[in-house]
Amino acid sequence: MRARLLRLYRELLRRFGPQGWWPGRSPFEIAAGAILTQHTAWSQAARAVAALRARGLLDARALATAPDRVLLEAIRPAGTYRLKAKRLRDFAAWLLVRFGGRFVGMRRAPLGPLRRELLAVPGLGPETVDAILLYAGGRPVFVADTYARRVLARHRLLPPNADYETTRAFIESHLPSDPALFNELHALLIAVGKTYCRSIPLCAECPLRPDLAGRPPRT
Ligand code: SF4
Repeated sequence: MRARLLRLYRELLRRFGPQGWWPGRSPFEIAAGAILTQHTAWSQAARAVAALRARGLLDARALATAPDRVLLEAIRPAGTYRLKAKRLRDFAAWLLVRFGGRFVGMRRAPLGPLRRELLAVPGLGPETVDAILLYAGGRPVFVADTYARRVLARHRLLPPNADYETTRAFIESHLPSDPALFNELHALLIAVGKTYCRSIPLCAECPLRPDLAGRPPRT
């Protein structure tokens, strides 16, 4: 299984090249982006991130103490901005209390308890938490988003209805515990999902077609 998954990874890398994820100038900026892009296209979230940067709010303490008016105005482009303002503040408050507002401690803390703590922060679901852990914290956690689940299920690597946790555990148990690998794989699966593995898959042109071994993708 490991060899097969690594083969898929290499095929994607050959086709799409390194994806350079996650865009962000600092761990806090990456974490803020992960919250702002919930249920929103990245282009919209990126506008909100840029507005936070322009106001000096990409810092846990600055964000936690910013006036409501300033914060809401900055993140309005990301949609549901009142909800996201609360989520950003809750995350910033957690980071301040737990690690003094810095990410250094997050890189060293035992992973399982740390993940559970983050999942307890209001408004942070598994996908957001794992994006923060992987991309901002450099921890070996796979972000098992819809694109990953779709590709793995269509290739019969997972059941069609595999949920987030099942998919995450599958990848983490079969591949080396390497943040750089999980980082690139997540981004590459999004690339193939957007380009070929759409609701109607374009298998004839897809670099992962050989892995289907002549069978149609599972629907
Ligand atoms: S488009 Fe077809 S070959 Fe490509 S990943 Fe999806 S199911 Fe696999």
